[in-house]
Amino acid sequence: MNAQTPAPVAAAKGIFINNAWRPAASGRTVPVYAPADGKVFAEIAAGTAPDVDAAVKAARAAVEEGAWGRLSATERGRLLVKLGIAIADHAEELALLEARDTGKPMKQARADMVAAARYFEFYGGAADKLHGETIPFLNGYFVATERERFGVTGHIIPWNYPAQMFGRTIGPALAVGNATVIKPAEDACLTPLRIAELAAGVGFPEGAINIVPGLGEEAGAALSAHRDIDFIAFTGSPEVGVLIQTAAARNHIGCTLELGGKSPHVLFGDTDLDVAIPVIVNTVVQNAGQTCSAGSRLLVERGAYEEVVARVAERFSKLRAGTPEMDLDLGPVINAKQKERVEGFFARAQEKGVPVLAQGSIAEGVPEGGFYVTPRIYGPVPRANELATQEVFGPVLSMLPFDDEADAVALANGTDFGLMAGVWSRDGSRAMRVARKVKAGQVYVNAYGAGGGIELPFGGMKKSGHGREKGFEALYEFSTLKTMIIKHD
Ligand code: NAP
Ligand code: MG
Repeated sequence: MNAQTPAPVAAAKGIFINNAWRPAASGRTVPVYAPADGKVFAEIAAGTAPDVDAAVKAARAAVEEGAWGRLSATERGRLLVKLGIAIADHAEELALLEARDTGKPMKQARADMVAAARYFEFYGGAADKLHGETIPFLNGYFVATERERFGVTGHIIPWNYPAQMFGRTIGPALAVGNATVIKPAEDACLTPLRIAELAAGVGFPEGAINIVPGLGEEAGAALSAHRDIDFIAFTGSPEVGVLIQTAAARNHIGCTLELGGKSPHVLFGDTDLDVAIPVIVNTVVQNAGQTCSAGSRLLVERGAYEEVVARVAERFSKLRAGTPEMDLDLGPVINAKQKERVEGFFARAQEKGVPVLAQGSIAEGVPEGGFYVTPRIYGPVPRANELATQEVFGPVLSMLPFDDEADAVALANGTDFGLMAGVWSRDGSRAMRVARKVKAGQVYVNAYGAGGGIELPFGGMKKSGHGREKGFEALYEFSTLKTMIIKHD
C-alpha cells in the first residue's frame, strides 16, 4: 500500500471490552494477511472462551445496571447517528484499512464506508420510532404491545464486508437497546475494531459494544454456546450456520442465519441489454464475487442466449484483477483457501467439459503471493453441474438458457438457496409474474442490488437462512414483544 496506509492501530490492541483493550486470556495472537501480497501485516488477539465470557458479562452489566441500559431510545439514536458521522469523518482511513485487510479495490472500500456510516445513521433515526399497538379486548381492559430489547445479543460476521456487516448487525441491535458481543472473522476484522474505538470516542457507554476477535472454532463457538446471550445473529457458510442454530437451540434462544446464495438473473429476450449487462456483470465481479447476494447465475431466454453471451463475454474479457491501489474491476480473493476453492471449481468444470465463454485477466505487476483469480464465465452450464447449483464465492458467472416463463421459474428456483434474484424484461406483467414466483428474500425487477439497500429488508428463504436484516424489519428481529393487559373499572 502507499505511504498513507495507517499503521494497523487496532490490530495489536487485543480484545475490546468495556471501551478498553485487553490481551487475550490465551496470550495468543493470529496473524493477519494482506490478500494483495499474501504477507502478514498485523496481528489480532486470539480470543477464547474466557474472553467471550468477560465480554458477555460486560454486556450484561451494561444493559442491566450500566449507563447504556438507562439511555432513552432518543439518546441511543443520537449516539448511533454520531457514530455514523464519525465513520464518515474517518472514511478514508477506514477504507485504506479495509482495502488492505480484504484486498478489495479502493473504490469498493470507499463505497463500503459510505454504507457502513449509513447503517448507523439509519438505525439512529429509527431508534425512537419502534411503536407498539393497542388491541381491542374485553370490556374493562386496556391492552398494548411494546417492543422490548432482548438484553445481550451475539453477532458472528464474515470477512467479505467487515465494516458493512458490523453496521448491519449491531446497528439495529443497539437501536433497540441491546448490548452486543461481536466475533468478527479472523481473516478481516480490523475495521470493526477501529469503529468500536470510534464508538467509545463519540460517547457509547461501557459494555454496549464488545468485540472478541479470534478463531471461529474458539471465540465463535464459545459465543454461540454462551449461556447468557439472549439472541445470536450469524452470517457465513451453511455448514457453520447449522452449528450456530444447534447451539442456539441448546440455549433455547433465537437466531438469524444469513447463509449466502446462488442468486439468479432471469433475463427475457426483450430486455434492454445496454442497461442490464453492465449491472449483471458487476453483481458477480464486485468484491471478487465474494458477496452473499452475488448474481452468479444468468438465465437467458433461449432466443436471446447467443447475443447475451457475446455481450457479457465482451465485458468479461476486459475485466482485470489488481491490488487495492490499482483500483481495477476486482481485487484478489480473501485467502489461499478461497483461491483454492474457486480454482477447484475451475478444475472440475474442465474435467466435465463445461465451456469457458470468456475470461478476464490478472493485471501485470501484482505482487507474487497475492490471492488473485481470473474472472470467468461458463456456459451453457448443465443444470445439474455444481456451477449451476453451488455457491462459488468467486468472480464466476454461470450462464444457462431457458425455454419459456415456466422453465425460467423452475430454473431460478432450482437450487437449495433463495437469497436474491433479478428479473429482466420490458414486459411489466411478465416480470411481475416471475418475480412473485421466485423464492428469494429480495427480488429486483430491471435492477439488482441497488444503492446499498440499507433500508430494504434482506435475508434468505430455503437454505439461504432465515430472519431479516436491514431496513426497519431488523428492529423486530433484535427485539421481543411484550403484551400488557390492564384491567380497569
Ligand atoms: P464461515 O466459516 O462460515 O465463517 C463465518 C464466520 O463464522 C466467521 O466469523 C468465522 O470465524 C465464524 N466461525 C467459523 N467456525 C465457527 C464455529 N464453529 N462456531 C462459530 N463461529 C464460527 O465461512 P468461511 O470459512 O469464511 O467461508 C466459507 C464459505 O462460506 C465461502 O466460500 C462462502 O461460500 C460462504 N460465506 C458466505 C458468506 C455470506 O455472506 N453469506 C460470508 C462468508 C462466507 P473465522 O473466520 O474467524 O474462523
Ligand atoms: Mg486479511
